Amino acid sequence: MTQSLDLRTREPALQALLAHHAPEGTTIELIDSVQQWAHERGLVENNPFRQAAAFPGRGCIVMCSVVTEDSARSSSSVLRIGPIAHEALAQDLWKDGRFLLLHEIAHLRGMLTEREADEWALARLNEHLVDEGEAPIDV
Ligand SMILES: [Zn+2]
Repeated sequence: MTQSLDLRTREPALQALLAHHAPEGTTIELIDSVQQWAHERGLVENNPFRQAAAFPGRGCIVMCSVVTEDSARSSSSVLRIGPIAHEALAQDLWKDGRFLLLHEIAHLRGMLTEREADEWALARLNEHLVDEGEAPIDV
């Protein structure tokens, strides 16, 4: 059985990450589908599997409330952070959820390429892991 994590159970920690790293006033919404959320607001989102997105004009980040091992494994970030770090995220979905949020925060902070956003997100996640007494993810 594939693992899953409902991020609504971790919302206070997500809000803390947002307060620490995101531009002031940024909000987060945990939703069922990024594509559906975007379409309902007249925004373009072509990827039905999208797990998270930042909307700079609205100062908001939306994320699918549920992350799964499959969603973590299917992420294209494997191309940028490498297979070892990618697998570490798939095996610990709370790390994956925080990585996804930090990646979108990076976009709101002006990092426009996927590589920049992934590298910044992984570095910030590792700082938090070390602060919490956990081993950082190998990069
Ligand atoms: Zn991105």
